[in-house]
Amino acid sequence: MPVLQQQRHSETAHRQRVSSAKFQPLAMPALDYTGEVAEATAEAYEKVRHVIPAIEWPAYAPYIKAINDLKRQRNAVILAHNYMTPEIFHGVADIVGDSLQLAKEAATSQADVIVQCGVHFMAETSKILNPDKTILMPDMAAGCSLAQSITGADVRALRQKHPGVPIVTYVNTSADVKAECDICCTSSNAVEVVESLGAPRVLLVPDKYLAANVALRTTVEILTWEGACVVHQRFTGAEMREYRNSVPGVKIIAHPECPTDVTAEADYTGSTAGMINWLKENSPKKALLVTECSMADNVASQAPGVDFVRPCNLCPYMKMITLPKILESLVHMRAEVTVDPAIAARARTAVERMISLKS
Ligand code: SF4
Repeated sequence: MPVLQQQRHSETAHRQRVSSAKFQPLAMPALDYTGEVAEATAEAYEKVRHVIPAIEWPAYAPYIKAINDLKRQRNAVILAHNYMTPEIFHGVADIVGDSLQLAKEAATSQADVIVQCGVHFMAETSKILNPDKTILMPDMAAGCSLAQSITGADVRALRQKHPGVPIVTYVNTSADVKAECDICCTSSNAVEVVESLGAPRVLLVPDKYLAANVALRTTVEILTWEGACVVHQRFTGAEMREYRNSVPGVKIIAHPECPTDVTAEADYTGSTAGMINWLKENSPKKALLVTECSMADNVASQAPGVDFVRPCNLCPYMKMITLPKILESLVHMRAEVTVDPAIAARARTAVERMISLKS
């Protein structure tokens, strides 16, 4: 074997040895609430004390300390969606945000391991953008009603039915679906993505409500699919009018996965990241966040002085992610999310097209 090749071979073997050693299962750490644990988690508690009573903190704090210690051992980062519970969001997450922010961070991460605290399509997106990294999902069953509403075969059928019409997929889809589409979008950039295509007519799948909200803000004709988010489709315009009557002065801030009779009542409609920015810029006295429950809990510490009215629709999938499951995944290095390399390559094109758009 030529010297250079030999050297590379031995470097690769060394990296693999280091890597596999790093990924050996570890012993489950002790989970006692000690003075050291209290001190290490005191800063996190300050951010969640408005939603977690002090008497309950000893049940969370040992997990938070153990997870943060393990992250260092594994060279891991935790990406957490805005819908994670406050003890995850403020206790162990390194990067928080909406789907777009998490996808961008996943693309630039230097960690060996990414623990995705969110739902399965987000972990797949991280894998698509980081084929060489280990992506862990604390609960593989954490899906999404939108992602489950459409398959790659459905997209191929749509393309046959509407030849020449570009297909935009909301990021809440499987890698298989992304691989069949021209470009991805999130709720924060959907209008921009649709208009970037320069086409008179665009298919935006799978969320019929996001598509309807985008159609209100563009002259591009929008065709869609029958998907919906189980959390946001339950809000109604009548409910919003009741809140406005019963809570004088409340500002209604809605997610574009809500039906259009809800967004018609809103003072602002945008992604979860857009909601946070709007709150910081406008500092309303009272705000109603028309989205998943945990959002208001998490944002409260970033928007002091805002009194949140909390309509509570929980995402059953997001709530499958818990501190004990995150700890298990780092101890045992499971469950790893994989994507077929051929599908990942095509899906990556759609995701990278979105990321490369200036926003
Ligand atoms: S909130 Fe809706 S869109 Fe988000 S993961 Fe849950 S079901 Fe999917």
